[in-house]
Amino acid sequence: MLLKNFFLYLSTQRTLRHWMESSPVAQRLNRRFIAGNRLDDGLAVVRQLHSLGIQTALDHLGENVSTEEAAAAAGAEAMAVLQGAIAQQAGATISIKLTQFGLDLSNELTLANAGPLVRLAREGGSRVEVDMESTAYTQRTIEILEALNAAGPVRGVIQAYLFRTAADIDRLNALHVPVRLCKGAYNEPADLAMKRKSDVDENYKRMATRLLEKGSYPAFATHDPAMIQHVLSLRPAKDQFEFQMLYGIRRDLQDQLRAEGWRLRLYVPFGDAWYPYFMRRLAERPANVWFLARGMWR
Ligand SMILES: Cc1cc2nc3c(=O)[nH]c(=O)nc-3n(C[C@H](O)[C@H](O)[C@H](O)COP(=O)(O)OP(=O)(O)OC[C@H]3O[C@@H](n4cnc5c(N)ncnc54)[C@H](O)[C@@H]3O)c2cc1C
Repeated sequence: MLLKNFFLYLSTQRTLRHWMESSPVAQRLNRRFIAGNRLDDGLAVVRQLHSLGIQTALDHLGENVSTEEAAAAAGAEAMAVLQGAIAQQAGATISIKLTQFGLDLSNELTLANAGPLVRLAREGGSRVEVDMESTAYTQRTIEILEALNAAGPVRGVIQAYLFRTAADIDRLNALHVPVRLCKGAYNEPADLAMKRKSDVDENYKRMATRLLEKGSYPAFATHDPAMIQHVLSLRPAKDQFEFQMLYGIRRDLQDQLRAEGWRLRLYVPFGDAWYPYFMRRLAERPANVWFLARGMWR
């Protein structure tokens, strides 16, 4: 837990971020989890995974922009990403973080930047998946998600570690908004989020059951065999839901699920602003540091 919190703390440090993102050595380190710096790198992975029967959600890395110009630029770049994804005809979606679209500035600006993307997804037969960030943004993310849902196909992310989660799932189920259920990746205060892994796991299972009973095509985002086993124990139909995992993590489990014929979508991040995403992956499994260092040495 201490190491996890340490990495989550580091993920918010701007000076270290700047240094890491401009270091060629650090860039080599991140290749396990990040498709590359450019859109073409992300699209190459989309095509490669599609040929293996695996779907994708492209994420152009970036979060917490602080000017209207940067938010508008992120919106325009996301349009190019989604156009590229649709052109692959590989069933790819796009995953976005609302703080990249201006959530630190205003809801209106965020909606203005994300709205065209959802309309493009509707025209192109794709979907916009809205990541869930820290609890500073949960309520407003859900409100914006509901507004975007009126314009086209979206998916919302719900974090099992939050105490409020059951109510949020009911709210999205009632609107037939598909939910991606994950455990949660941020450092949250104890009055808002469960701290014990066993509590989070139990809540994940409860919420997965609820989503399979009452949700619309839920996605179970996890690399935890116990969570996957729980979902499968409910005997869902293969076209009723999908599993989601992160690019480069538990490839053995990804192969196994595909071989068994379960639908699988990988979250494929690319771009220059990779540091916070990368550090959250280290926080989830600090042993990744040794694993990556060994890979570098070899
Ligand atoms: C597709 C997808 C989208 C996500 N979107 C969001 C989001 O929008 N908001 C959010 O807060 N979180 C998001 N997450 C992250 C999520 O909340 C968890 O932090 C992360 O998935 C780890 O939880 P777990 O379910 O894999 O279980 P854990 O109990 O953390 O891990 C179970 C097992 O999975 C493996 N594992 C897990 N993480 C790693 C890792 N980094 N490296 C190597 N092995 C690992 C290990 O074998 C571990 O024993 C997303 C995760 C996925 C898969």
